[in-house]
Amino acid sequence: MTSEIRYDRDNVFAKILRGEIPCDKVYEDDHVLAFRDIAPQAPVHVLVIPKGPYISLADFSTIASPDEIAEFFAAVGKIASDLGLDDPGYRILANHGSDGGQEVPHFHVHIFGGKKLGAMLP
Ligand code: IMP
Repeated sequence: MTSEIRYDRDNVFAKILRGEIPCDKVYEDDHVLAFRDIAPQAPVHVLVIPKGPYISLADFSTIASPDEIAEFFAAVGKIASDLGLDDPGYRILANHGSDGGQEVPHFHVHIFGGKKLGAMLP
């Protein structure tokens, strides 16, 4: 089954991409949208998503073109930098599947910053 068939077009990020529900946008280009998390876990908590129908990194890393993958991660770095997070730093995180704690089935990278972050524990 292809990703586009498995992809849930009613997930909340798909609705944000279609403009059906609002978001607090911090960045957008032809392929990428970034917006503030509705339940922030840090003073800065931004979600970066590709606009294509990718469920998780497993899809994005195998279906998206190399250019799209490179541009996505370049955008993640630019967004963090534009948010003023380069110094003293920030964290990026992507959850995959139920064991990874993924709640929204549209690939996304979290950017956390704005405070000294605690250790990452499994
Ligand atoms: P996940 O656990 O990696 O899938 O993270 C999903 C994130 O989406 C969580 O941090 C939620 O707080 C966030 N979220 C869910 N709905 C919305 C929304 O409508 N706007 C912004 N963030 C959302």
